[in-house]
Amino acid sequence: MENFVDFVRSLYKTDEFIPLHEPRFWGNEKKYVADCIDSTFVSSVGKYVDRFEQMVAEYSGAKYAIATVNGTAALHIALLLAGVKNNDEVITQPLTFIATANAINYCNAKSVFVDVDKENMGLSAEKLIEFLNEFAEMKDDGFCYNKTSKRRIKACVPMHTFGHPVKIDEIKKVCDKYNIVLIEDSAESPGSKYKGKHTGTFGELGILSFNGNKTITTGGGGMILTDNEDLAKLAKHITTTGKIPHKWEYVHDMTAYNYRMPNLNAALGCAQLEQLDDFIDKKRKLFDLYGDFFKNSEIHLFKEPENCFSNYWLQTVILQDRAERDKFLAYTNSKGIMTRPIWQLLNKSEMYSNAQCADLSNSQWFEDRAVNIPSSVIKGL
Ligand SMILES: *Cc1c(COP(=O)(O)O)cnc(C)c1O
Repeated sequence: MENFVDFVRSLYKTDEFIPLHEPRFWGNEKKYVADCIDSTFVSSVGKYVDRFEQMVAEYSGAKYAIATVNGTAALHIALLLAGVKNNDEVITQPLTFIATANAINYCNAKSVFVDVDKENMGLSAEKLIEFLNEFAEMKDDGFCYNKTSKRRIKACVPMHTFGHPVKIDEIKKVCDKYNIVLIEDSAESPGSKYKGKHTGTFGELGILSFNGNKTITTGGGGMILTDNEDLAKLAKHITTTGKIPHKWEYVHDMTAYNYRMPNLNAALGCAQLEQLDDFIDKKRKLFDLYGDFFKNSEIHLFKEPENCFSNYWLQTVILQDRAERDKFLAYTNSKGIMTRPIWQLLNKSEMYSNAQCADLSNSQWFEDRAVNIPSSVIKGL
């Protein structure tokens, strides 16, 4: 462990505190933000929002991209657009950031937790099939119902953990079979691909986050991805107060949201996206360096799954057990090297303690062992 601290210090070339993930502003950030201020269009209207949406659509291959104030808001809207209603159920993984389940709750729907895969830390296609085989029942209205709760299972939200894609094509097949809308929480995986296709573009809807700790940032921000023109139009409408376009009249046709990303944030986003490929390249080189370091160690470095290209947002090590995990966390943090355990399983937080859970042994396995280590992009790598 002493060697690890020295090694991280040699990578980041500093004796100061080393955070888990810092943003890098090495490109046109100041230029675009200054231009945005000079234009006076700093708020929810402006050329940078449109440009950022276009850039993200082009980059990801999604037909449409709709910018939002943050990733959680994007997920909330994606669930609404998927038709998730009061008392519906949404299947997701327990091993994810709290926002995934919170967004489901915003729709007054219930999270149902299905286990993750060992290879990718994300929702398991096999476990999903097992769960639906046991609990799902198709009814005459064409929808899938949960035999135990009697509630409709309306959507499924897999999450690409730390940038590692789940087996999304298999999950999609299952969702199609049961008429469950697939929404990808790709908050952590901009630039990550499954079989060459960008994460967030397999489902009916996908979302990205540009929070300050993510691979690229707009300060705060998110994006909804979809190929469906009607959903894209509705996404724009519902995130911009439901206002009917008119030169001067204020007419709104629904109780909508003020979720549009401000132009100022989008200016930052345009500059960041220009550097995403370079950031990912450096993150993958960082993985190689950590890989060499941990080669003959009892600590295992988590590697991208087969058929996948991962953005390696946060590097992850797997310790032998919970006791080793806690020792590692205590030691590294005491030495000014920021490390963090993976999230506590969501079904253990009070709000979600009543949720239906399938067998969650893999999720528990990761909770006991997975730790994120410093992953910021290093200049010159
Ligand atoms: C970051 C994150 C979000 C939420 O994004 P914000 O922009 O912080 O609201 C949602 N889901 C996951 C898995 C995330 O990591």
